[in-house]
Amino acid sequence: MTDRSRSYSTEGIVLRRRNIGEADSILTLFSLHEGKFDAVARGVRKAKSRMRGHLEPLTRVQVHVARGRSLDVFTQAETIEAHRALKADLERMNLALYCAELADRFTIDRVEQRPIYELLVDVFHALDGGASAQAARYFELHLLAITGYEAQLDACAVCRQKLPEEETLISGPAGGLVCRACRPAASSGRILSVRAVKVLRYGRTATIHQFDNLRLDDTLERELRAALGDLVRPVLDRELNTTRYMDALERADRIPALSPNHVQSDQSNPVPPEP
Ligand SMILES: [Zn+2]
Repeated sequence: MTDRSRSYSTEGIVLRRRNIGEADSILTLFSLHEGKFDAVARGVRKAKSRMRGHLEPLTRVQVHVARGRSLDVFTQAETIEAHRALKADLERMNLALYCAELADRFTIDRVEQRPIYELLVDVFHALDGGASAQAARYFELHLLAITGYEAQLDACAVCRQKLPEEETLISGPAGGLVCRACRPAASSGRILSVRAVKVLRYGRTATIHQFDNLRLDDTLERELRAALGDLVRPVLDRELNTTRYMDALERADRIPALSPNHVQSDQSNPVPPEP
């Protein structure tokens, strides 16, 4: 991936597009082989452009790219998955845009990050097939784990004591659940119901489809959205600690089970929480 040949091919997901000049666009592509990068698509907004329609945000594409002096240039683009159903539904499109933005914020330019890429592909695929907001919760939970910020859900994030099965404080700055004794030490947090704790634990080993198939009521859904938001925000605020992050990525690459496609559900045999 570091060879300096004059062009390369990769598949990727278009995260963002900015239009420049009369007919050009700069696209941020999160690619399988080259990591995340920006490249220009010349003339892509002209009606006769062959790349038009392929280089759209949220589309999974196969591209050919020529290295440029400052910015690389897309020379070919072909859709792999257009995610048409997802784009036709405002709620699911917004969920996908949110996941794309998180992927953008959690990745480093030009570093291959296959586990995150595969996670995003799975989530978009699920949303395109009609998955609910639970797909975005699944994305947050697994994105944190892949990047070295796995939510602490079995033991107290402060003192590491095993937690009893009861409603528990979840704290973003602490990175997970916090026991009663440590509550004063947690700078902020919210109380999470036993049901929500069980769903989060289940999500770690479930496939995205198993997780999306859980039937959660609105209260529980709101609770999970708030809790995962609390966990994601401090990571974004403190900027990614590159060393910790790179170590985590290296470990993730060695453990294929981290990709939700390859989770061995028979191994942990997760029991869905009662709704
Ligand atoms: Zn504690």
